[in-house]
Amino acid sequence: MAVCCICGKEKEDHLVILGKSVCSDCEWTIVTTKAHEEGYKHCAGQLKKLFDSWNVTPTPESAE
Ligand SMILES: [Zn+2]
Repeated sequence: MAVCCICGKEKEDHLVILGKSVCSDCEWTIVTTKAHEEGYKHCAGQLKKLFDSWNVTPTPESAE
């Protein structure tokens, strides 16, 4: 179990991207939503925070 960094919910199924957990629901949302949809705006905003945090604190062990 891990807390999704986008929706903040604890999920069994999740990805770990550069040390951040993203649940399968959010991953699917990101993959399938279009730019004009509300869901995308929310996810894009959360992802921007992620990218910002990655820039500040890179995690070398995640580089594959
Ligand atoms: Zn999520």
